[in-house]
Amino acid sequence: MKHRDALDILRTIYGYDEFRPQQADIIDHAISGQDALVLMPTGGGKSLCYQVPALARRGTGVVVSPLIALMQDQVDALLALNLNAAFINSSLSPSDIAHTEEDLLNGDIDLLYVAPERLLMPSMLSVLDRCEISIFAIDEAHCVSQWGHDFRKEYMSLNVLHERFPDVPRLALTATADQRTRDEIVQNLALDDARQFVSSFDRPNIHYAIKEASNAKDDLWRFLENNHPDDAGIVYCLSRRKVEETAEWLCGKGRTALPYHAGLTGAVRQKNQARFLREEGVVVVATIAFGMGIDKPDVRFVAHLNLPKSVEAYYQETGRAGRDGQPANAWMSYGLQDIINLRSMMQGSDADEQHKRVEHHKLEAMMGLAEMGTCRRQALLAYFDDHLENPCGNCDNCLSPPKTWDATEAAQKALSCAYRTGQRFGVNYLIDVLLGKDAERIQRFGHSSLAVFGIGKEYTTTQWRSLFRQLIAKGLLSVDVGGHGSLSLTEAARPVLRGECELNLRELDSRQEKRSRSSKKNKSLAVSIADKPLWEKLRKLRSQLSEGKPAYVVFTDSTLLEMVEQKPTTSEQMSGVAGVGVHKLEKYGDAFIDAIKEYEMFADVDYDDAGEPA
Ligand code: ADP
Ligand code: ZN
Repeated sequence: MKHRDALDILRTIYGYDEFRPQQADIIDHAISGQDALVLMPTGGGKSLCYQVPALARRGTGVVVSPLIALMQDQVDALLALNLNAAFINSSLSPSDIAHTEEDLLNGDIDLLYVAPERLLMPSMLSVLDRCEISIFAIDEAHCVSQWGHDFRKEYMSLNVLHERFPDVPRLALTATADQRTRDEIVQNLALDDARQFVSSFDRPNIHYAIKEASNAKDDLWRFLENNHPDDAGIVYCLSRRKVEETAEWLCGKGRTALPYHAGLTGAVRQKNQARFLREEGVVVVATIAFGMGIDKPDVRFVAHLNLPKSVEAYYQETGRAGRDGQPANAWMSYGLQDIINLRSMMQGSDADEQHKRVEHHKLEAMMGLAEMGTCRRQALLAYFDDHLENPCGNCDNCLSPPKTWDATEAAQKALSCAYRTGQRFGVNYLIDVLLGKDAERIQRFGHSSLAVFGIGKEYTTTQWRSLFRQLIAKGLLSVDVGGHGSLSLTEAARPVLRGECELNLRELDSRQEKRSRSSKKNKSLAVSIADKPLWEKLRKLRSQLSEGKPAYVVFTDSTLLEMVEQKPTTSEQMSGVAGVGVHKLEKYGDAFIDAIKEYEMFADVDYDDAGEPA
């Protein structure tokens, strides 16, 4: 099996025709024995970048990964290709480990997955000393960065690989893009001489939409019903309580929705994650504790019910949708309260001032993305120093540009209301004053006699909230989070108050109708109505054949979709479908061909209303 040509491996084992741009270069580079740092978005195809060199070179490819819970699935996917793969981590018994080590020493393993803490054990290193190693792949390499939020201290010691195995090429891979993380990876893994391969971070198949919440739950439900009535997806919430509530509520509505957060026991989390990976159409409702390394290719949507705390987090979380390259939705509904909550979480943390300032800027960038009126993809990519020439045509702002209006006068009212009441009050109070509410508290503070009392009756509470949110996002008001989210004016507010400049804002509440219409365009998968029964049939067959493993281990959605489109009825036709390699053709080919033939036979029959052939 060794010394094979990379393209031959791709075609026969994986059943794919061509390498994606970058993959071929990275693979050539690694096969020639050199180190590399690979930055590629989720779904970009990082796995092949180390798997193919591992197969093409002599010896075992060793993959370092922090994702113990997922190793079994990763190995299963390779076994399904008839490769010799194994993993070693703390979930195995000593005798299992001894067994795998023996296989390793006999040169019987193509790919070995290990957790970093295991790899660094003297006993493990000494086993590796006695093996032939084709390549070291350091997956999720950003875990070596203290700057990011996935820091693992064991990763810091991985430079030992360089010292101990100087002749083995190393490939560090990550989907985290920013320069600072990149620098830390190079430094901490001693990759100074490694070539860097940076792919575009664009995920063209993901449709981005961000809306202001009117009623978050109803919004979510409408989004799911319109776009993903039976798809798998992730719903992110900020708090554990909201996770629990939302999951329960979705279950009540008939969806299979499972909670996932750090407050659940390891066993429950593990079980819910496993169901998400193995069953079709499961929704996981989660805090950010969920998702790193989730390899599920057919996550059709990622929904945020709260604003993430940075663009990095947003990009990483939404990036879990559509790994298979098929259309997917990144949808978010958020409100003013999110900004206040995030600010107070940041303020209340015991991080140092420097760190807080950084977090503050990151949140501001995220708010900017949420509030903007032009192409979101261009902004998102620009944030990662990536450049997109033209507006993308696949985000809410491209498909239905928001209307703007001259909000100068309304903003002046809002700002002076904050100013006149002493910059000590939160948004709810300020809106009550603007609307001239007869509240006891307003009387008590004597604010009913102010000139701003009741000057804002032309707008509703919701509209005022939207306006305040935009003023905060634009940096005209700042939220003091020490107390109760009281709003104070910033320097930037002064020219607006003095009437020295105009302020154009997004129309308040304007887009909900249009937004849901446009997101309908991004119906999950491109299965035509006519082919839906075949699609369902093949999905069912896939589940039956998966033997308790995730269904995509048999074939991914992309592969099934191609079968539905091409309807192959011979082995030769079947082998032309992307994702059908030699081994899978042999193992599953006939079953799928039979299913397609059976379907074709009845496809011309008309059915009456009762579903009986007429
Ligand atoms: P990443 O690890 O970068 O998130 P994966 O390695 O899981 O991405 O790849 C994402 C999907 O793309 C997988 O289903 C994989 O089989 C598929 N894929 C990767 N490379 C190719 C290729 N050259 N042709 C077709 N499909 C590919
Ligand atoms: Zn766009």
